[in-house]
Formats: sequence, structure tokens, C-alpha cells
Amino acid sequence: AKKAGRNTHFVHQEDLSADSHQRLDIEQALRQAISRDELRLYYQPIIALKGERLVGAEALLRWQHPEQGLLSPDRFMDVAEQSGLIAEIGEWVIRRACEDAMRWQQHGLRLGVSVNLSAIQIRRNNLQSVIVDVLNESGLEPELLELELTESMLLEKSDAFLQLLKNLKKLGVSLAIDDFGTGYSNLSYLQRFNVDRLKVDKSFVLDLSSNEQNRAIVTAVIQMAHSLKLQVTAEGIEHQLVQRILTSLGCDHAQGYLFSRPLEPDAFLGYARSYSER
Ligand code: C2E
Ligand code: CA
Ligand code: CA
Ligand code: CA
Repeated sequence: AKKAGRNTHFVHQEDLSADSHQRLDIEQALRQAISRDELRLYYQPIIALKGERLVGAEALLRWQHPEQGLLSPDRFMDVAEQSGLIAEIGEWVIRRACEDAMRWQQHGLRLGVSVNLSAIQIRRNNLQSVIVDVLNESGLEPELLELELTESMLLEKSDAFLQLLKNLKKLGVSLAIDDFGTGYSNLSYLQRFNVDRLKVDKSFVLDLSSNEQNRAIVTAVIQMAHSLKLQVTAEGIEHQLVQRILTSLGCDHAQGYLFSRPLEPDAFLGYARSYSER
């Protein structure tokens, strides 16, 4: 019960019990999911806008639930984090993503892979050794692995965290800030943490062609990023007009349903192969 109580501190007793029961159910099922190998990684293509080349993919977690079908992370990520299961899941994600990226190379496709990290993973002290081990075991070049952090993680100012990011950079992996623009707006960390890329949140991108305010924000983010020598990925591109606008703004990489939804590994491989033969 220690895991269920944390977030439900201020709600009524009835809600609390219902909520924590449900939480425990999901937690139980998630434990089983891990042991029954029901977790999946889907891959969403990432395109370089200049020249329209496929450059890599973002790994996105799914749970192939025996009764409920394919579940998105929003259905189970809270429970995974609050129960601590995210540590094990997150390690599996890094390992599987690197192995899959090596498999793409065996098909002649040298593509990057981006992995989402959770705050809990970066607070545990084994992340660096996990990444070192996975890179060694898989044989993937560190340059092809990108770790996606969110702005709120960068509020953590401990020396240990700074050292962790430094060490990861030293290994050669790259760091991206995910959901950029939705979190804390102190930009000093961009320099301090030596990140490589900003991922503009899809809430600014989805309606870029009709929303002047969002267009102004995205324009400013791209300019700022480039003057700081950072690359920019826009996510949530659903329409060709948005792609054209982002291309004209000099946005580097793009991701969205316009190009492809997240794909299961074989489907991604097929996509990537046909892309490279175009
Ligand atoms: P995110 O990292 O911001 O991932 C992008 C989300 O936007 C994905 O949702 C993706 O399917 C969706 N998306 C991509 N293109 C479009 C588009 O054109 N339009 C719209 N409307 N949506 C688009 P998904 O896969 O459901 O993942 C949700 C979130 O779950 C992710 O947001 C990420 O924060 C988290 N997540 C996913 N996989 C992992 C993981 O392995 N570890 C951790 N810690 N978090 C993960
Ligand atoms: Ca992400
Ligand atoms: Ca994102
Ligand atoms: Ca998000």
C-alpha cells in the first residue's frame, strides 16, 4: 500500500480507496506484463526537413494487453512511475531501442534512436552504467542514441545530476529537451546542461498554419536554438502546410502523423527501407 498512497493524500476517503485499489490492480497487471513480455516499443520516424531524409525514430512504449489491446503510455505510465516499476521498464526500453537500432544497421540503415527518460530514472544512480552496458552489449555507436529529458527534470540542480549529464555527453550520446515550451521557462539551463536539441511540443505545432501566436513562438524557438547551436525537432506535424512552414523557418527535424504514426518494429523497418529506396 505504500505505493498507492502518495498521490492521493488530499482526496476523500472513498475516492482514495477506489483509486488505490485500481492503482494496485494496474500495478499487479503491469508486473505481470513485464514478466509475460507484453511491453512493446513502437517507432515513429523522424525526418530531416532539408532534403527530406529519414534520420531516425523515437521509441514509444506500448503495452500489448491480453484483454484490452494495445495501450498507450498515458494509461499506465503514472502507475509505472509511482510503483517504481519504471526503473525496470525504462532499462528495458533503452536496451530494446539500442538493439533495434543495431538491427536497422544490419539492413544497411544507419539511423538514430531517441528514448524518453522519466524523472525517476535520472534520479536513480545506475542510469549511466545501464547506458554504458547497453551500448557495449548492443554495439550501437553512442552518437546514434538520443535521450529525451523534459524541462522539469532540468530543475534538478544537484551536483550528481550535473555530473550525470556531463558523463552522458562524454560517452557521446546526445541530449534533447522534450515538450519544449510547456514547462519551466528559465532558459539558462540550455547552456549549463549542454543539450543538443530542443523538441518543440506538439501543442505549438498542430495548428501552426492557422495560429499566429504559435507561429511566433515556434519562429522564436528555432531562432534562439540555432543561435545557441542547438538543433530543433518539431513534433505533431499532421499537415503538409505545417511541414512547409517549418521548412521555411529552418526547423531541422520533423515528426508527426503526416509522415507516419508510431510503427511496430517490422513495420518501421519496412517504412525505413522504402524511404531509403525513394
Ligand atoms: P512524447 O515523448 O511527447 O511523445 C510524442 C507523443 O505524440 C506520442 O504519444 C506520439 O504518438 C504522439 N504523436 C506523434 N505525432 C503526432 C501527431 O502528428 N499528432 C498527434 N496528435 N500526436 C502525435 P504516445 O506514444 O502516446 O506517448 C505519450 C507520452 O508517453 C510520450 O510523449 C512520453 O512522454 C511518454 N512515453 C512514451 N514512451 C515512453 C518511454 O519509453 N519512457 C517514458 N519515460 N515515457 C514514455
Ligand atoms: Ca518524447
Ligand atoms: Ca514530446
Ligand atoms: Ca509529451
